[in-house]
Amino acid sequence: MITRPESFSLTCIVPAFNEGAGLGDFLPLLRQELVRFSARVEIIVVDDGSADDTLAIATDLAEPLALTVLGFSRNFGKEAAITAGLEHARGDLVLIIDADMQEPVSLIGDMIDRWKEGYDMVFAVRDGREDEHRLKRLGVGLFYTLMGGGGQAPITPHARDFRVMDRKVVAALNRLPERNRFMKGLFSWVGFRSCALPVRIQPRLTGKSGFGF
Ligand code: UDP
Ligand code: MG
Repeated sequence: MITRPESFSLTCIVPAFNEGAGLGDFLPLLRQELVRFSARVEIIVVDDGSADDTLAIATDLAEPLALTVLGFSRNFGKEAAITAGLEHARGDLVLIIDADMQEPVSLIGDMIDRWKEGYDMVFAVRDGREDEHRLKRLGVGLFYTLMGGGGQAPITPHARDFRVMDRKVVAALNRLPERNRFMKGLFSWVGFRSCALPVRIQPRLTGKSGFGF
């Protein structure tokens, strides 16, 4: 039976690419939620070379919200943004969440409860993709079929990067030598006791998806 420390530090990584329109609303909301669970909260915003005011907004909020802001010199992609966040994260527990408010912060408490029960990684799995275009759904389905073909470390279809990870999982990820990363593959590759929670993904209210076909 695993027991987690009564008091733990929590790091949240927020990859952000052209999220200026919503970031000023999201970050205070995120902090407000996180401080319910830990007195030692660290939020790391990774600006992935945005062309809009994402970096300026995060920098303005850095002091009031005690943010750590990392700024990339160009757009390197979400995988690189998460990787940089994981290298900077100091928390006993590390959370990853999108910046666009499509993922409900209300799930974070459930994730943390599962971690306290003994799971080392608790990740969200998208519950239905009805709101997406038929062709994108087909492409996503094909992608997971092909990616799952390898066998050793199967990726749960429709798993999100939205997850909490124990420090030891983060340490294992940071030790991997891969430079060109597909994080969901690596999350599965490192092993550990994992648990999936279904999540309803909200439509995007501001900005637009950085991922095409
Ligand atoms: N993102 C990023 N770099 C990119 C593309 C996206 O850091 O090159 C961030 C984006 O700001 C968001 C998250 O990754 O916080 C998910 O991206 P997006 O919403 O575009 O993906 P979707 O929800 O459409 O799958
Ligand atoms: Mg999104």
